[in-house]
Amino acid sequence: MPDTQVVVVGAGPVGLLLAGELRLGGADVVVLERLEEPTTESRASTLHARTMEIFDSRGLWDGVDGPASDPHGHFAGIPVDLTLPGSRPGLWKVPQFDTELLLARRAAGLGADVRRGQEVRTVTDTGADVEVETGDDVVRTAWLVACDGEDSTVRRLLGADFPGHEARRELLRADVTGIDIRDRRFERLPDGLAVAARRADGVTRVMVHEHGAPVPVRTGPPAYDEIARAWKRVTGEDVGAGTPLWVNAFDDTTRQLTHYRHGRVLFAGDAAHRQPPIGGQALNLGLHDAFNLGWKLAAEVTGRAHPDLLDTYHAERHPAGARALSIIEAQALLLFGGPEVEPVRALLTELIGHEPVRAHLASTIGGLDVHYDGVGARWPHSTEPLRAGRGLLLGPTDLPGGVPHAPAEHWTLVRPDGHTVWADPSDPPPPEVLARWFTPPTT
Ligand SMILES: Cc1cc2nc3c(=O)[nH]c(=O)nc-3n(C[C@H](O)[C@H](O)[C@H](O)COP(=O)(O)OP(=O)(O)OC[C@H]3O[C@@H](n4cnc5c(N)ncnc54)[C@H](O)[C@@H]3O)c2cc1C
Repeated sequence: MPDTQVVVVGAGPVGLLLAGELRLGGADVVVLERLEEPTTESRASTLHARTMEIFDSRGLWDGVDGPASDPHGHFAGIPVDLTLPGSRPGLWKVPQFDTELLLARRAAGLGADVRRGQEVRTVTDTGADVEVETGDDVVRTAWLVACDGEDSTVRRLLGADFPGHEARRELLRADVTGIDIRDRRFERLPDGLAVAARRADGVTRVMVHEHGAPVPVRTGPPAYDEIARAWKRVTGEDVGAGTPLWVNAFDDTTRQLTHYRHGRVLFAGDAAHRQPPIGGQALNLGLHDAFNLGWKLAAEVTGRAHPDLLDTYHAERHPAGARALSIIEAQALLLFGGPEVEPVRALLTELIGHEPVRAHLASTIGGLDVHYDGVGARWPHSTEPLRAGRGLLLGPTDLPGGVPHAPAEHWTLVRPDGHTVWADPSDPPPPEVLARWFTPPTT
């Protein structure tokens, strides 16, 4: 007998959201995390509209002072107003460690067994179960989900096919005190790109990309001196006397697993796809993987799933990931490109002035336009069944009036992840539709 139904490797944001979702669906979960304490490193800082809807649908902000929305988005540094109909348009500035704290509390509150200081070293899929070895423990599990980040150990152990391309360009970043330079959002200069934003506490985040600079092989963060020299070459300003609080380099390496499922092992978040964090998409993309997978895997391990349900995870999230990666790459090309991309940027700026283009891009940036084959639009509301991680069947008279995106007066069936799978003016969903997404009628 396995020790648990699911092992999640990695207590990053994706692993933690997934652990909560699995518990909500009734699955036993052990999370194995190599770090003794959560990281306080400055990482992602943006939650987009769909992520906020997802968090709302589970009541995650209940009792918490939620962040404020900002409609000022961008596509490759070109301003885009993110105003849209819906409950949570805009972008929301939340430091990643706050998001992780919120998700960790929820996972623990729902009964997930989070074990820190446990580095996964071997993974053996026997076909009947999976044996996971850490430095000092062995856990047998029915399923394993690798949420162990961009350098995923599990991906390497399984030799999973991870095609894509290596780094071509790099952006250097630092949080610095003791410098006094003017703010600039995305300043395009002959030799590169410069960003500076001073926070209320006097710390300035600087970011610089130098056209044509080779991308070194890095084994750790860059020295601040390297960043200051690049800043000087691109802007002419000297920030060398500043004190760095945090330094970081990211490049445009882009890769995606060919298969999100390998036998009894599944992948989510950065373990499944590697991308530069342009436009604040990386974290959001991974959270959406976890939200798609959680209820399906919980149904599988508790014997409530149609035989094909779990495989809809790869079928839905792989194309969604491929599209997001392609959009991030388009932004990387336009952002890091030199004078040769200026005509394309000018054209795009002109096009964004047209409302349908602006609305389309705002929806894409917000993750609101994700479409799964054979599955309907998202249900952007928080209701009791969804809060509890269950599905929702509404008869024509149950529909709240004036609900955007809801076909009024329709029978409507909504999956636990908020996607409608049936909407019909006269007929309720037939048994085969119910069985495809929910407990088979025979049970
Ligand atoms: C330095 C840095 C800066 C970033 N900046 C931005 C940004 O500005 N904007 C943006 O959108 N995104 C940014 N990102 C990306 C964003 O942080 C990730 O997309 C997000 O953290 C992905 O979440 P995850 O849960 O998939 O992986 P991670 O957050 O990487 O979590 C993986 C977890 O797995 C654990 N783990 C790894 N291996 C093992 C093992 N063998 N056994 C047990 N546990 C293991 C790790 O300790 C970690 O806690 C940044 C990432 C980094 C590293």
